[in-house]
Amino acid sequence: MASRHCQLNKHLFILGITDSPLCRACMEADETPTYVLLRCRGVAEQRAAYLGSPASLPEALGDLGGLLSFWSELV
Ligand SMILES: [Zn+2]
Repeated sequence: MASRHCQLNKHLFILGITDSPLCRACMEADETPTYVLLRCRGVAEQRAAYLGSPASLPEALGDLGGLLSFWSELV
């Protein structure tokens, strides 16, 4: 499970803060940064608006302004 150390909601789930490790936007998979930034269909519209279509996590993270705007739409 070492590769799953940086999940967001999952971590909160472990801490007992949320009911589920699933992505809050689509409830289809664990809410990891990679999943939300690259694959989640629940935030596809916001992601396209702020980040375009990043092919990889480093690419998504490279646009810090877009990333922050995108993230602020989600929380
Ligand atoms: Zn999702």
